[in-house]
Amino acid sequence: MKIGCPKEIKPQEFRVGVTPNAAREAVAHGHEVLIETGAGRGAGFEDSDYSEAGAHVVDTAEEVFATAEMIVKVKEPQTAERKMLREGQVLFTYLHLAPDPDQTHDLLASGCTAIAYETVTDDRGGLPLLAPMSEVAGRLAPQSGAWALQKANGGSGVLMGGVPGVRPANVAIIGGGVVGTAAARVAVGMGANVTVLDRSIARLSYLDDVFMGRLTTQFSDKGAVAGLLPDLDMVVGAVLIPGAAAPKLISRDQLSTMKPGTVLVDVAIDQGGCFETSKPTTHENPIYDVDGIVHYCVANMPGAVARTSTIALGNATMPFMLALADKGWKQACADDPHLLNGLNVHAGKLTYYAVGKALGIDV
Ligand code: NAD
Repeated sequence: MKIGCPKEIKPQEFRVGVTPNAAREAVAHGHEVLIETGAGRGAGFEDSDYSEAGAHVVDTAEEVFATAEMIVKVKEPQTAERKMLREGQVLFTYLHLAPDPDQTHDLLASGCTAIAYETVTDDRGGLPLLAPMSEVAGRLAPQSGAWALQKANGGSGVLMGGVPGVRPANVAIIGGGVVGTAAARVAVGMGANVTVLDRSIARLSYLDDVFMGRLTTQFSDKGAVAGLLPDLDMVVGAVLIPGAAAPKLISRDQLSTMKPGTVLVDVAIDQGGCFETSKPTTHENPIYDVDGIVHYCVANMPGAVARTSTIALGNATMPFMLALADKGWKQACADDPHLLNGLNVHAGKLTYYAVGKALGIDV
């Protein structure tokens, strides 16, 4: 199969859909890989890395779209890209169609077969192509929060790990899923005093087991959160209620109960945010102040570490990409119900119930 990977054109997107290693694997499976010149540069991969892996570097996205039977990307296709998709072509990328009627209608009109990373599932009920980005965002959260805690950035001037004779930062992580666990690992590693709150007892048990006393777990309710706030230096918001907006767990009124310069890192901002005062920010302007409390609410945190994120995403997508290329999408989806769950659009029809329900389109 001819696999094509264009350069991402969404603003501030530095990741790339196919890594040189993934290209090498595809070539070893007998496929042809076309990569747009410069596509990997934002993630630290040069054209020569792709050529050495056996891929063909081409000059334009038009060539990629016109030649490839399957397009592998990171972000949802932008308007210009959607015009180049055609009937029978397979698109494998993040789509997030539910809040995006324009994209959905364009994909339906194109006649392509679109498989969305975010709805591919695994045996444990997880989302294997979303998890790597949650791991990245989680590990970044205490790092970004520690930067925001510095005096020059508006923070209280507390060092995460303290020093001998001076107590470390008190960090609460609300939500102990993929993001929260990754955040806990880094915050504990930095020497902070960490409490993880979740509403799942099973999740708290798991964290209690794996961290072996290096953090505290607490059931998440309004009283528990309110009780912790006056002593905290940082709060990481990492909750998710699948299919719903994030619940607001800290109100504006509660900010006055916190110490000036406390940092709120709202990782759940892509689901509307879990603090009442959260609003999305960018890597250029990541923080803002409300009532003396520093808010960090970057909606695309993994973009800050595009190289790590690209490799992590590539590791997760590669087996699916190879199955699609080796067997064709029909057989690959017939053989793997988890990949079939990724199918969102085929030949002008929507094939994913939740998207149809959200957009009022028949599935
Ligand atoms: P996850 O499903 O693995 O974990 C979410 C956890 O939240 C679960 O353990 C759940 O029990 C818990 N939870 C739900 N309601 C709660 C409450 N009221 N109090 C405490 N815990 C509660 O999800 P995840 O992969 O860890 O993702 C977490 C959030 O991070 C999501 O909103 C996701 O979209 C977001 N995210 C953002 C970025 C970014 O760049 N900003 C990147 C990746 C993920």
